[in-house]
Amino acid sequence: MTPFNKMDTKEPCILVIDDDPGIVRGLIQILKGMGKIHFTTKGTEAVKLALECKPDLIMLDIEMPDINGIEVCKQLKSDPVLNNIPILHVTAHTDLETEALALSSGAIDFIHKPPNPAVVRARVRNYLAMKQQNDKLRLLSSLDGLTGIANRRIFDETLDHEWLRTCRNGFPLSLLMIDVDNFKSYNDLYGHLAGDECLITIAQILKSCVKRPGELVARYGGEEFVVLAPHCSADQALKLAEMIRSEIVSKAINHEASDTEAFITISIGVACSTTFDLGLHEGQASSNLTKAVDLLQLADKALYNAKKLGRNRVSTKEDNHN
Ligand code: GH3
Ligand code: MG
Ligand code: MG
Ligand code: MG
Repeated sequence: MTPFNKMDTKEPCILVIDDDPGIVRGLIQILKGMGKIHFTTKGTEAVKLALECKPDLIMLDIEMPDINGIEVCKQLKSDPVLNNIPILHVTAHTDLETEALALSSGAIDFIHKPPNPAVVRARVRNYLAMKQQNDKLRLLSSLDGLTGIANRRIFDETLDHEWLRTCRNGFPLSLLMIDVDNFKSYNDLYGHLAGDECLITIAQILKSCVKRPGELVARYGGEEFVVLAPHCSADQALKLAEMIRSEIVSKAINHEASDTEAFITISIGVACSTTFDLGLHEGQASSNLTKAVDLLQLADKALYNAKKLGRNRVSTKEDNHN
C-alpha cells in the first residue's frame, strides 16, 4: 500500500475547542460520522492536545475565560507542526471586525453560533477534503520520484532542524553519506532502466536498515544517499554504516563491470557532530560558529576517503591520517 492509499483510508480527526460544554456536545452530535472527534473546554490545552492528536481540522471558539480563541489560533499557527491544520472559528460574534481579525490571525473560516447542522457539515466536509489534498501534495513534494524515499529538500530541512537541536541539547548527531561504487559502469553494462531498478533496491535496503525513530534516509541526488541519525554517537554511526554496507553486499546484486567486486557495493563517509565545538561549555551560550553544512562537508570528505582507500568501505575523515 502506498502512503497515498493509507491517506485515503485514514479516518479524519477533528478537534473541537469551546468553553461551553453544551456547544461541544452539539457539535459532536452534528459531526457524527464525519471523523474521530477530540475536544476540550480549555483554550490553554489546545496546542498540547493538537500536538497529541494531530487533527485535520480544528473548530475553535473565540470567547473563552482562560484564553481568547484568536490568541489560541495564533499559537497554533506559529507551531511548525500544526500550522497546516485549518482552523474554523465557531463564535457568537457577528460583527465584521471580529470576523476580519479572526481570519487575519490565520483561521480559514468563520461559523456563527448557534451552529446550523447543514452549514457546519458542509463546511467541515469541504475543509477536510482540502486538508486531504494538501497532505497529498505535501507528501508528494517530499518524496524522491524514483525511489519513494525522502528527497533532498526534506533532508536539507531536517538537517538544519536537527543541527539546531544538537546545538541546543548537545546530543550527538551523525550523518552518513553513501555513494554507490562504479555505478556509471553498471548503467553502461546493464542499461539505465536496470540502473534505476538497482537504485530502488538500494533505497529499500537502506530503509530496512534505518528504523530508529527520528532517523531519516534520503536520496541526496544521483546514486548518492544520506542517513541522518540524531542521538547517535560516532561509534554507533560507524556500526550503523558498517551494517548498511554489509547488508548491500549480502544482497549480491550482480555487477560484472565493477572494479571493486562482481556485485554492487557502496562506500560510506561518516561524520558526527561531536567533532565540532558546539559552544556547549558551562556558562556559554550555544555558539553557531559551525553550521549544518560543515557536518555535510565532513561526511563528504570521509566518503572521498573511503573511495580513495578502495571502495566498499566505511570511513571517517580521520582515517586519512592513519
Ligand atoms: P564511484 O565509485 O567513484 O562513485 O564511481 P561511479 O561510476 O559510481 O561515479 P560517477 O559519478 O562517475 O557516476 C555516477 C553514475 O550514476 C553516473 C550516472 O549516470 C548514474 N546515475 C545518477 N543518477 C541516476 C539515476 O537516477 N538512474 C540511473 N540509472 N543512473 C543514475
Ligand atoms: Mg465561549
Ligand atoms: Mg557519486
Ligand atoms: Mg558512485
